[in-house]
Amino acid sequence: VKMILLFFIQNFFSTSTRCASVPVANTKLFIDGKFIDSTTDKWIDLHNPATNEVITRVPEATQDEMFAAVAAAKRAFRGWADSSVLHRQQIMFKYQQLIKDNMKELAESITKEQGKTLADAEGDVMRGLQVVEHCCSITNLNLGETMTSVAKDMDTLTYRYPLGVCAGITPFNFPAMIPLWMFPMAMVCGNTYVLKPSERDPGCTMLLAQLAQDAGVPDGALNVIHGAHDAVNFVCDNPDIRAVSFVGSNQAGEYIYDRATKTGKRVQSNMGAKNHGIIMPDAAKENTLNQLTGAAFGAAGQRCMALSTVVFVGESKEWITDIKERAEKLTVNAGDQAGADLGPLISPEAKDRVCRLIQSGVDEGANILLDGRNVNVKGYENGNFVGPTIITNVTTDMTCYREEIFGPVLVVLEADTLDDAINITNANPYGNGTAIFTRSGATARKFINDIDVGQVGVNVPIPVPLPMFSFTGSRASFRGDTHFYGKEGIQFYTQLKTITQLWREEDVEHSKPAVAMPV
Ligand code: NAD
Repeated sequence: VKMILLFFIQNFFSTSTRCASVPVANTKLFIDGKFIDSTTDKWIDLHNPATNEVITRVPEATQDEMFAAVAAAKRAFRGWADSSVLHRQQIMFKYQQLIKDNMKELAESITKEQGKTLADAEGDVMRGLQVVEHCCSITNLNLGETMTSVAKDMDTLTYRYPLGVCAGITPFNFPAMIPLWMFPMAMVCGNTYVLKPSERDPGCTMLLAQLAQDAGVPDGALNVIHGAHDAVNFVCDNPDIRAVSFVGSNQAGEYIYDRATKTGKRVQSNMGAKNHGIIMPDAAKENTLNQLTGAAFGAAGQRCMALSTVVFVGESKEWITDIKERAEKLTVNAGDQAGADLGPLISPEAKDRVCRLIQSGVDEGANILLDGRNVNVKGYENGNFVGPTIITNVTTDMTCYREEIFGPVLVVLEADTLDDAINITNANPYGNGTAIFTRSGATARKFINDIDVGQVGVNVPIPVPLPMFSFTGSRASFRGDTHFYGKEGIQFYTQLKTITQLWREEDVEHSKPAVAMPV
């Protein structure tokens, strides 16, 4: 009931009025178990990307509010860390059920603020839910190691302890999945949390915070602050925050990694991508082309694992026009409209940027096989829509190849051999994801071994690992030592304590102090 009320308040009630004609609710902060109005005088208008109407105002939390969030997390830490692992596990069981029960509201909130289709928004929640489900096995995940008799009557054991207050900074493109990569993993290990969601679509995070409270997360254990640069700097600099998880662009991620590690924090930073799909001539044609089209244009290309670049090897280049046929059939519409395949981009600025990058292809000698820049979406003329776009004859020196476009744009290259395709991919600085399409096991095996990318699909276009594994982007797509979720996620959010203990039934008398290094 609380969840529906919060959704209702966020969507329909007016607590402030920016324009006389457009009443909107302000997004609240969540501090010490309370949803509160910010006292800030700095607000960010949040627009529905399909209409560009203002739908809420997001506060830039004041310094006092951000300090209050960290103080609450610090106060809550001891009690939460000392609670039994079974207690935290039970809360995760409840939490995963509540997320399932509220899937529709969560997805609707995402579609409204982020723009993606409702089906895709449900996928966003599902992929986060799977992490919460994984957290339910904390009783196994958090096991330490033991060895008896490392010396006479001596045993060694390790325990995994939480770090303290941890923080997360998230991007706009997965408003459910990415926050859920972070705070449930941290909290089930016994940490408390301060989350700063994307200022462009924090509504889903607020619903997730409400559900966490309903599941039994105690006051102060989870806090949500809002803002942009000041909030990010606050998180990086605050001495009580022990670890920072970041997902977003390279510009922000490299900055945050440098600034937060300087103050001694652990940082994991997942960043941008340029994922290459390699199409071999022996691939299963129909399936490959469908997979490629979905992975390039789904979510309007606003996925860090979108297959935004395709390399046709040898004779497979004859299939290029077949992709055009498939892409043309996709329906561009507001995400809540039936039959929509792709929704709008997040903002007019994002649309301008994507259009500029398409134009750079024209200017630098590429060919626009399909141009989505002037797409007309009836009834949503003010939305940030770009239709599926295919740029062919691209070379690796072109701007549209070098920059992450983050829109529904497929950049097409050609190569003579598999080795050439691997060399192209490995020369690109990003290492987030890649996929090969082939019917040959030997070709796939060579690709897996030779490709220098962290997440590899074989006939799988978007190889995002399930949470029992980790999200293993590499090279310019990642900074840090331990990745998100899976075993590495547990490692990131815990510190080891190694205990070496000697217990003898009878004391052994030492005739003199042992001053040499004990071995
Ligand atoms: P973004 O970097 O603009 O924003 C991410 C977060 O960083 C936000 O909370 C924002 O407030 C903050 N931020 C933005 N600019 C900043 C700056 N200059 N300094 C400090 N903080 C800043 O990213 P986005 O546009 O929201 O998301 C899209 C990007 O995220 C793409 O590059 C995409 O590839 C990447 N991404 C990566 C992964 C991954 O796992 N590798 C997953 C999703 C998205």
